[in-house]
Amino acid sequence: MVGPKSPRRRWAAGEVALSDMNPDPADLLAPRSRANKFLPVAAPMLIGNEKKYVLDCLDSTWISSGGTYTERFEAAFAEFCGVQHAISCSNGTAALHLALMALGVGDGDEVIVPALTFVATANAVTYCGARPVFADSDAETWTMDPRDVEAKVTARTKGIVVVHLYGHPADMDAIRSVAHRHGLFVVEDAAEAHGATYRGRRVGSLGDVATFSFYGNKIMTTGEGGMVVTDDPAIGDKVRELSGHWMYQKLPYWVPIVGYNYRMTDITAAIGLAQVEQAEWHLRRRFEVAAWYREELRGITWAQPQAEKDWAGHAYWMFNVLLADEVPLKRDDVIAALRAQGIETRPVFYPIHLLPPYRGDGDPADLPTAERIAARGVTLPTWAGLTRDDVRRVCTSLIDCVR
Ligand SMILES: *Cc1c(COP(=O)(O)O)cnc(C)c1O
Repeated sequence: MVGPKSPRRRWAAGEVALSDMNPDPADLLAPRSRANKFLPVAAPMLIGNEKKYVLDCLDSTWISSGGTYTERFEAAFAEFCGVQHAISCSNGTAALHLALMALGVGDGDEVIVPALTFVATANAVTYCGARPVFADSDAETWTMDPRDVEAKVTARTKGIVVVHLYGHPADMDAIRSVAHRHGLFVVEDAAEAHGATYRGRRVGSLGDVATFSFYGNKIMTTGEGGMVVTDDPAIGDKVRELSGHWMYQKLPYWVPIVGYNYRMTDITAAIGLAQVEQAEWHLRRRFEVAAWYREELRGITWAQPQAEKDWAGHAYWMFNVLLADEVPLKRDDVIAALRAQGIETRPVFYPIHLLPPYRGDGDPADLPTAERIAARGVTLPTWAGLTRDDVRRVCTSLIDCVR
């Protein structure tokens, strides 16, 4: 096939250096002096005790798993979520895999997941030998539509994984009542929603188990990392045992079942502890950035933000808008026009049923709302270091390129 060479192939061929393609880190650290410079869609803010704790960890030489930073991070994160048990692991996808295994998901089972989410939600179901069944989105919140969840229940359905998409909680009462009627478990995939609330309660405490990611672009980050949280001690024990090869404490190296090594290191946990300490600041900053976006986009009828329901405390992992049909440009042309202005935006996730591994799986997919949001949705830069001027610049550029 002849086409433009991808950046990776140009890099591999020695035609371009990675340094030419990356922003200058100094620009990320000094957001106020950044007018007309590259504005990334996300960037971590490591402005608390991250460095101090990592150095402490190195000084102690306890750099592997199971040390005091892991214990402290797990305790602090459990308290942050308002749950009894938190088990750290290597990333958010591993957290989902552990949660589903602990709930007994296996060959031949079906698990209902939203079509519109990051692919990891479905992949974790596939890892268990089960089949993800896709539910459509609610047109306002973009999260799983509880009515479509109920329509997708079959005799093989074992449970539901809800996703608090882009930081907006799913309608948990409605989803829990579907689960209750059919005897299903509910896992919250809260990878994008640290600190979000549903009717005043923090996500993570609203289902049987919840999972979080601490990837570099998430609301709280450890670089790579994940957490499983639950109030159920039996599930908590299973998750911990599965994540460390299920070793029998009384008989070293005796292993009764096939487990995994999904543990987090203490260096990672040290960063996580510092992030939890700063959680309220991160959430306040994101809320402020979102309020600025709403203000700048007020009266722009062709760019509709993802709704924030009155029962929801949106954590604003990402601020998204849906481009109306009347916008003459294709969504991807809008993204390209903004990139030419040095502003990175992203398309909303591809619905998973359209991705090659899941295409044509089972019944023909009838997921119109997820497909429409995915085709016209744009993710705008959202992170705690953005200034009012950055947000204005994004909105002015967006309005100019569509006009
Ligand atoms: C990021 C993300 C994950 C996966 O987390 P990793 O830490 O990258 O493995 C899972 N689900 C959702 C919805 C996510 O956004």
